[in-house]
Amino acid sequence: MKFFHFTLLTTVLFFTSFSYSQNELEESECSRKGSYIKALLAKNVNYPGDESIDIKYYGLELQTFLQPNSITGKVRIISSVVMPDLLSVFFDLNNSFTVSSVKINDNNVSFTHSNNKLQIQLDRVYTMLEQFTTDIEYAGVPGTSGFGSFVFSQHNGEPVIWSLSEPYGTSEWFPCKDTPADKADSSDVYVRVPSTLFAVSNGKLIDVIDNGDLTKTYKWKNSYPIAHYLISVAISNYHEYLTHFNYSQSDSMPVVHYIYPENFTSYKTNLDKTISILEIFTGTYGEYPFIREKYGHAECGFSGGMEHQTISSMGAFSETIIAHELAHQWFGDKVTCKDWQNIWLNEGFATYSEGIFLQNYYGETRFDQYITGKMNQAKLASGSVYAQDISSVSSIFNYNRTYAKGAMILHMLRGITGDSLFFQIMKHYNSQPHLAYNVATTEDFQIATEAILMKPMDYFFQQWIYGTGYPTYNVNWNYIPAGGELNKINLSITQSSHNNPTYFTMPIQIKILTSITDTIITVFNDNQIQNFELIVRGTPQQLILDPNNYILKNATVTNIDDIKDIPSEFYLGQNYPNPFNPITTISWQIVNNSFVTLKVYDFLGKEVQTLVSEYKNQGTYKTEFDASDLTSGIYFYELKADDLVSTKKLVLIK
Ligand SMILES: [Zn+2]
Repeated sequence: MKFFHFTLLTTVLFFTSFSYSQNELEESECSRKGSYIKALLAKNVNYPGDESIDIKYYGLELQTFLQPNSITGKVRIISSVVMPDLLSVFFDLNNSFTVSSVKINDNNVSFTHSNNKLQIQLDRVYTMLEQFTTDIEYAGVPGTSGFGSFVFSQHNGEPVIWSLSEPYGTSEWFPCKDTPADKADSSDVYVRVPSTLFAVSNGKLIDVIDNGDLTKTYKWKNSYPIAHYLISVAISNYHEYLTHFNYSQSDSMPVVHYIYPENFTSYKTNLDKTISILEIFTGTYGEYPFIREKYGHAECGFSGGMEHQTISSMGAFSETIIAHELAHQWFGDKVTCKDWQNIWLNEGFATYSEGIFLQNYYGETRFDQYITGKMNQAKLASGSVYAQDISSVSSIFNYNRTYAKGAMILHMLRGITGDSLFFQIMKHYNSQPHLAYNVATTEDFQIATEAILMKPMDYFFQQWIYGTGYPTYNVNWNYIPAGGELNKINLSITQSSHNNPTYFTMPIQIKILTSITDTIITVFNDNQIQNFELIVRGTPQQLILDPNNYILKNATVTNIDDIKDIPSEFYLGQNYPNPFNPITTISWQIVNNSFVTLKVYDFLGKEVQTLVSEYKNQGTYKTEFDASDLTSGIYFYELKADDLVSTKKLVLIK
């Protein structure tokens, strides 16, 4: 889902049963439209539903009523038993409904309905893997918590009714097992509405019945596995705009838009881009997951979009929102996060896909701008991308953390792997037989990544998914001649101390501009203070850390020779790098032609190496000190020329 956010002000109403912390309030982001205000926090986290059953099928027959707004429902749920000797089950259903009847395999059974749970006594004992059908009839006013689970509203004087269940709102309009972890194999949604309105849902429209009483029933059939929260309805006086995605020489799929008549003309240009975006994502992620059915948009009254399976509900039609919700069909709908802690697998992927669309459609400049913007948002993220607190809707859907930083983690992975392997990973992940049309965790994505790269990536996922923050690099460098046109760059990377992890492990690209050529060298930075030696052709002129902006970071890069203010007198410089292992460079200067010694002493004053002992002309020199044979510790180096002496300290860390 994609939503516009606003800073929480005093205008938002809270129900008395909500509890919240100040921290949650500060982080709160949600959407609103006119006087309609969405409650920010999940009212009751029924999650994760009854674990003694496996859902096979949801069949909804709903009728909506206006003035007053309410619904009646007949819902059929087919379940398979996954626990021995099952006597009772429960489904999650809002207390606001009155349940009139529950049948198990056509037999009336007793039930209780409290705490938003419908507890049902089965008609007999069921054994493992047996299936049974539950038919539930209920009526009442749906709930509107979260992002507004089921909303009656208006546009231009006409009714519009929509559902938006994610994350905890499904049970506010139909009985379900309230967890994304358990997909039904298929679903049907039949909706009876006043004849002037059009009801839209998942899958294919298989029939429209005129009931002869100024109502019509729209029958939608979905034949793919579906998570409960991706089942949707959208109802209004829609203008239907049908286009086609020609995905092969001979095959096409309907792409159909249900738009408020008054908005169609202004939206048409962006709606027509849906086909191009489908082509881009098909190329990068593989075949559209619901190719036998459709893709579509249903306009609704909230601000943003929600990726209901095969039919995104849309409050806005910017091209990035269209791209975001469409990308969710692969990442969110085909492969669904198993729990809300792993919501970045939905939102980080859909957000990064906005960038993939911009890169393919508009080119690199637009993509780079997008990445810079997302990085700035990602830097504001607090806490781990793995959502620690799923009791709060605003915490799960925290934009900076779940969306922006989640997206930038994919960008960093792409930086490490390169484009070819990255898109192989994305295709492999969403086509794995045990993940496709099923659910996944971060570990499943890590395994898919490692399968393509054929190497462990634990360091990457641990620090970026379960850790917090991002690295701050302090980079210093200088160079000395290394024979002929070669020069040796001494590169020192120091990371500021951090909580979790203490420092970040990342391959870092270094672009080196020399008098002869430009090169990019990748160093593997896996220590808080680390020195590298790089041999280049030509005189080094500039070093750029992470030239393609792959890493979420702050960095300063300094050529220490530029800042050295060498006086015009006898001078001994601080060795660089320092601390070092095992080679460092010492700069020094003499103003008269004279006999020079440069010697290294240990902590006790014992000479360990003579670096220079000869007659030298006046000038500035760089001398290398190789401490391979010495042990870690503090050493001193001393320069003598004429009657002048200077001593400095250096630190060898092995
Ligand atoms: Zn999204």
